[in-house]
Amino acid sequence: MRHDTAGLLSKKTSKIRGALLPVGLVLGTVISLSACGVSDNSDQDKTAVEQGKAPMLDAGIWPKIDNPVKQLAETEQKITKLLGQMSVEEKVGQIIQAEIQHVTPADVKKYHLGSVLNGGGSMPNRNKHATLKEWLDMADAFYEASMDTSDGKVAIPIIWGSDAVHGHNNVIGATIFPHNIGLGAARNPKLMREIGQITAREMRVTGIDWTFAPTLAVAQNDRWGRTYESYSEDPAVVKSYAGEMVYGLQGVPGTKQFLDGEHVVATAKHWLGDGGTEGGTDQGNAQVSEQELRDIHGAGYVTALGAGAQTAMASFSSWKGDKMHGHKYLLTDVLKHRMGLDGLVVSDWNGHGQLPGCTNASCAAAVNAGIDLVMVTEEWKAFFENTVAQVKDGTISMGRLDDAVSRILRVKIRAGLFEKGKPSKRGIAAQDGIIGSQAHRDVARQAVRQSLVLMKNNENILPIKPGTTVLIAGDGADHIGKQSGGWTITWQGTGNNNQDFPGGQSIYQGLKQAIEAIGGTVIFKADGNVDRQVDVAIVVYGENPYAESQGDLESLEFEPQEKTGLPILKQLQAKNIPTVSLFLSGRPLWMAPEMNASDAFVAAWLPGSEGQGVADVLVADKNGKARFDFKGKLPFSWPKAPDQDVLNPHHADYDPAFALGYGLTYQDQIHVAALDEAIAKGVNSDQAVMIYKGRTRASWKIFLETDTGRNVLSGAYGATQGDGLKVMTSDKDIQEDALTLEWKQGTSGQVGIYAFAGSSFYDFSVFSRDKAVITLEVKLDQAPEHPVTYDILCGQDCRISYDMTDKLKAQVGKGWQKITLPLADFDGADLSKINAPMIIKSAGPLSLSVANIMLEKADTE
Ligand code: BGC
Ligand code: BGC
Repeated sequence: MRHDTAGLLSKKTSKIRGALLPVGLVLGTVISLSACGVSDNSDQDKTAVEQGKAPMLDAGIWPKIDNPVKQLAETEQKITKLLGQMSVEEKVGQIIQAEIQHVTPADVKKYHLGSVLNGGGSMPNRNKHATLKEWLDMADAFYEASMDTSDGKVAIPIIWGSDAVHGHNNVIGATIFPHNIGLGAARNPKLMREIGQITAREMRVTGIDWTFAPTLAVAQNDRWGRTYESYSEDPAVVKSYAGEMVYGLQGVPGTKQFLDGEHVVATAKHWLGDGGTEGGTDQGNAQVSEQELRDIHGAGYVTALGAGAQTAMASFSSWKGDKMHGHKYLLTDVLKHRMGLDGLVVSDWNGHGQLPGCTNASCAAAVNAGIDLVMVTEEWKAFFENTVAQVKDGTISMGRLDDAVSRILRVKIRAGLFEKGKPSKRGIAAQDGIIGSQAHRDVARQAVRQSLVLMKNNENILPIKPGTTVLIAGDGADHIGKQSGGWTITWQGTGNNNQDFPGGQSIYQGLKQAIEAIGGTVIFKADGNVDRQVDVAIVVYGENPYAESQGDLESLEFEPQEKTGLPILKQLQAKNIPTVSLFLSGRPLWMAPEMNASDAFVAAWLPGSEGQGVADVLVADKNGKARFDFKGKLPFSWPKAPDQDVLNPHHADYDPAFALGYGLTYQDQIHVAALDEAIAKGVNSDQAVMIYKGRTRASWKIFLETDTGRNVLSGAYGATQGDGLKVMTSDKDIQEDALTLEWKQGTSGQVGIYAFAGSSFYDFSVFSRDKAVITLEVKLDQAPEHPVTYDILCGQDCRISYDMTDKLKAQVGKGWQKITLPLADFDGADLSKINAPMIIKSAGPLSLSVANIMLEKADTE
């Protein structure tokens, strides 16, 4: 029910001005001295088993891995020497990792912090288009602060970690590779080594030492929002990739290349069982046997550690109800002692704060369980004070602290950080022509080609033959942001358009070039509505970007409420135009109607910035012969019904529509019969239309607008317009699921979610007008002094306003509360064409947090 509205909003969205201004931040300074969790003063070498705490568990059933990175006497001596010179405060600083928006070089100097990270969508100066120089300047500044000895303390180079999970994806202009699920389809372990090398090189240019990759999850339930981070549901595929990716990123241990100036430290994540949670819930609980944990979820760690991975990241998830961040048996006994990790374990984004008795600002239990470096992100100052106190009172033993620091130092020494000088002077740092180079893009393009899975090619519609007229349609055709998915420039991958990918190519651009090169004609109509004769249509559609829990699904039905792809396919079918579906997604989805309405169907996953790779395979040469054949094989089983979320060959009743490993080639002459469509009719039809739930749905943008201009909420955690209006993402139930809007005294302005040219619009007429309500959760501590309105835009010159001042006043100081705006009160709107489903306007001063904005049936209240 979404339709193309290219141009509709041109007046509203034509101008986005200027760079984003820094948003002021307030660091939590509240210090709680209460120790958290169980006190554990045991010698770090004693396992839980030895202490009789977990007599049922035997780390001996786990594989013993021969660590290829041998401990050098010289390194160990250096560690001992450094430890001897460090105070408790310096040691505690060393085990803290802060987020770059929440820490300054002066802080690093004062607190002797060991590490920083930039979270997804977090760039220097909060500038999405941060330049190479800005990245390097920041890296140098942190480094120099860490090496400053003016206070008489020890110089220890800082290490910077970043999520380069499909290329160096936080950096504009970087080569963006297919997400892991697509790489899994390629079944090409060798290619992983190349991709790892390239990613490391691009990172090194920006002065960053360490990537939080590869993800080694073996996703078992495709409702999980991180399924695309998983190479495969098949542990054998993950196992065959993990080691190669680590070799690529770090270099091969024992060679000159190992952790040299063109390689980075890798992270095996998320240890362990992240892909095995019940219901596919992100950060959920894996209720599986220890054997399953080892053989399925642990498979990739065998080769990753075997290749010398220097770090591992703890999983947010739990095993049998116990959080991994506090799991001494799995972190210490199994991962470190049995499987031989002598590098460090980093915690995940405030994951320690989720342990019973812990907060983000205090958690001895995580350190005692075996976390070496704590990703505290924001409240690191309080965490520092609390941890120092916990060491001094023995809640954390000195032995454990020394062990954690030793591990961090070991990784830093191996990475050469003590010798390489400042980041901008190391190896290939600062060199032009490496980030997004043609050679790198060629490898990404090859990966795209190999990741495509041909599911159906009835009547041999593909490859596209010379001299044909081809219609290209679908909202994914010319949208590099959509084809790249989450973890792309922004955390959620939302809010990106083609200009954010200099050097990249959309699928449409690649197809057009290739088709015209063989004498064909291309017509591009996103909505597929053509009045000319065409020979074949390629419709590019699929999931909109998401990351982590925001991608968790209720059912595997593709587009359960608003079908966007299907109407285009049906309309073409009705005109007897043969159709090719090019499906973009982070997982297999139930979509029998779309498959049946397609003569050919290609699963393209999330291919990244090199869209031409698609044309390489889909479009023939001038003699009509395929230039490249399909190589991709399903990395995940494709469901026959929307409720087949757990669908893996080793489970009972395995009955997929297309099995793991399926994938046709041009040689196959297989007619794929129609699938049963009956099953899912009406599933979810009563569900709410989500306007803002953790992120904007569809790839819409959030604008801030005052008299002085307009700005867009970037991935870099917030935006301001002038000094009057500020919007930041904030946390309600999960990370960044809310928006905090602030109007200063004397400013008037508005914050709105708008469709972009070429994007779609919402159809609010799914529920009848008098039975529907817009609901939003709000939080405010001070009553608004001036009216606050909630407006919707409904096409050109249609704007309807609702005064919600009184409703807000009633909620002041009550924490999060839900308010309801009856749709019937938005008089005169054309509800079928909503191109701005939310605009909140105020004359300030006001600070208002909003979350979970949706259109619902009134009686579901
Ligand atoms: C992500 C970060 C992201 C942050 C925002 C985390 O879960 O991994 O990279 O920027 O949430 O709160
Ligand atoms: C994610 C990790 C990521 C980290 C840092 C977390 O939310 O779970 O995969 O490495 O944030 O961005």
